[in-house]
Amino acid sequence: MRYRKLGDSGLTVSEIGFGTIPVLQGNVPVLPDYFNLNVEEALEVMECAFRLGCNLYDTAIVPEYGDAERKLGKFAAYIGREQLVISDKARFFDGNEMYQAVQTSCENLGTCADIYFVHQIDEEHEQEVFQKGGALDALTELKREGRIRFTGIASHYYDILLRGAKDSRVDVLQGSGNLLERGMLERFCSEPLFKGKGFLVNKVYAAGILPVFFPVDTLLRTVLSYPVSSALVGIGTKEQAEQAMRWNTVRNQGEIPSFEEVLSVLEKDYSPIPCDRCQKCRCVYGTEIHTVFRQYQYYFLGKEYWALRKLDMSIEKSAQHCRECEKMSCMDQCPKKIRIPDEIMKICRLVKDHPIVWRG
Ligand code: SF4
Ligand code: SF4
Repeated sequence: MRYRKLGDSGLTVSEIGFGTIPVLQGNVPVLPDYFNLNVEEALEVMECAFRLGCNLYDTAIVPEYGDAERKLGKFAAYIGREQLVISDKARFFDGNEMYQAVQTSCENLGTCADIYFVHQIDEEHEQEVFQKGGALDALTELKREGRIRFTGIASHYYDILLRGAKDSRVDVLQGSGNLLERGMLERFCSEPLFKGKGFLVNKVYAAGILPVFFPVDTLLRTVLSYPVSSALVGIGTKEQAEQAMRWNTVRNQGEIPSFEEVLSVLEKDYSPIPCDRCQKCRCVYGTEIHTVFRQYQYYFLGKEYWALRKLDMSIEKSAQHCRECEKMSCMDQCPKKIRIPDEIMKICRLVKDHPIVWRG
């Protein structure tokens, strides 16, 4: 295992971090999957990763990640709290709610988290988080009180992470990226404002999709080729722990595949949209183009029901806007010169041709 600095925090973290979603038991609000590890099994998997050098464990408040936070607390007590860097998070944007959430997390963990993130900040809640009395102020206050060591901002949106990078209250950022969705990582490494902040990357396997098409060591090597602190990987078995923690012992490691090479692999199964989620395009009507394109890719890559369910909510309206749009300025902003409105129409037709059967 190799280790990297967590920005200017003074902490050193393993370059592979343990994502705790798969060690929970039951369903979680954020995922359609069912997980089934009991406490003993979860601790065994976490210990396996630890013995292979992992020291960074990332979780979220109950019930967002089910009972994973409690399990991580038990593991920390068992293995020795000082051996771990615990990263925790909650999706509360108001200061009072966040303050309360951190206290609840401390009770669940039986200890304090090292890093605590405001989780899944989107454009709708951005202002509330950053404003006076918002969640970020609450984390700053908790840091001053010694209840957490470092504050964090977690988002799938580049502009929000950039705002966090500019904000002196923020110590660590958590964003998403992988072999396919590497546009945000490219922007992150060319932006000096991120220097000094820790940066954790999630969605490295794209919700478990990419290991079907690419070796795990290729996925990890790609993300770790960027100047990030750690790649967070969801781990639910000892085999997965060994595969991830030992990624750099694989012999005959190849080059990092170019984006075009990645597309050519996926082209065997469907016609991918050549979008790397750089998020440089803006729709004048507010369609989240990169998210729509992601759902299209995921539809063909094994998450059909989930993707259709998300697309079904808004694609008709987005397509209607594209029909009425005069400037189509999004296309000028796209470095990959994607014919965005055409793709949106295509996705709209796909959704209409595949009505979803709602599951309870
Ligand atoms: S063409 Fe469509 S996606 Fe592009 S700006 Fe216009 S409405 Fe938005
Ligand atoms: S459509 Fe183009 S600009 Fe928009 S996220 Fe994808 S690659 Fe970037």
